[in-house]
Amino acid sequence: MSRRRRIYEGKAKVLFEGPEPGTLVQYFKDDATAFNNQKRGTISGKGVLNNRISEYLMTRLNDIGVPTHFMRRLNMREQLVYEVEIIPIEVVVRNVAAGSISKRFGIAEGTSLPRSIIEYYYKSDDLGDPMVTEEHITAFGWAAPQDLDDMMSLTLRINDYLSGLFLGIGLKLVDFKLEFGRLYNEHGDMRIVLADEISPDNCRLWDVTTNEKMDKDRFRHDLGKVEDAYREVARRLGILPEGDVTEIRLEGKEGQAAS
Ligand code: UDP
Repeated sequence: MSRRRRIYEGKAKVLFEGPEPGTLVQYFKDDATAFNNQKRGTISGKGVLNNRISEYLMTRLNDIGVPTHFMRRLNMREQLVYEVEIIPIEVVVRNVAAGSISKRFGIAEGTSLPRSIIEYYYKSDDLGDPMVTEEHITAFGWAAPQDLDDMMSLTLRINDYLSGLFLGIGLKLVDFKLEFGRLYNEHGDMRIVLADEISPDNCRLWDVTTNEKMDKDRFRHDLGKVEDAYREVARRLGILPEGDVTEIRLEGKEGQAAS
């Protein structure tokens, strides 16, 4: 796939060594998994679209002062990011009940929650990403109390900002998952930054008028038109120029950085 050293391969992305120390190249695949890897498939063109969508959202967040690992997009499927020490916690924010919270508490999908709810999950495929509390996180040393405070305040800002941004293009931000990392500077100082990606792979986005699902739930539950949904999100964000759909698909197949 590439001459560069592969640092890590996940379900939807590959991380390669970057051109400078302290940088990585994040490559977006078309592969999709759900239900802790029990369902696998590919969504044609997904990697290209998620690369663009995540670039756009991370850039907007950087603009409002949310620090992220994103540096710049390199090509159709790759972006340059700062190398961070990933905190092994998935931070889930929920505005509307769906998915596991509906199942766990018997709340009808689509019910607005009385306020935004934040949950933590420990990143472990072997354990099936169990839900954890702040007590577990700090007691087991996955994150320090100060790290958690920073993650929580960034998460609330991100939720407020993205909820408004998506509402402006007719999409309800039902829930989403964030990951954070520790970024060290040359003096050894550390700060918590947003890492990973923000895309329809890890957000639930529903059309505000029809409640149509425009995210990975279309893949999870075999609803069809998965690729169309991802493309529609990109189109509404204004990052999919009209008429270049074929071009994106073709270019995306090549997609390796000229490193
Ligand atoms: N999510 C994710 N990765 C995971 C688990 C959840 O990106 O490993 C996202 C998911 O796309 C949704 C939100 O987090 O937007 C809440 O997911 P939920 O807990 O309802 O789990 P699911 O329904 O995926 O089992």
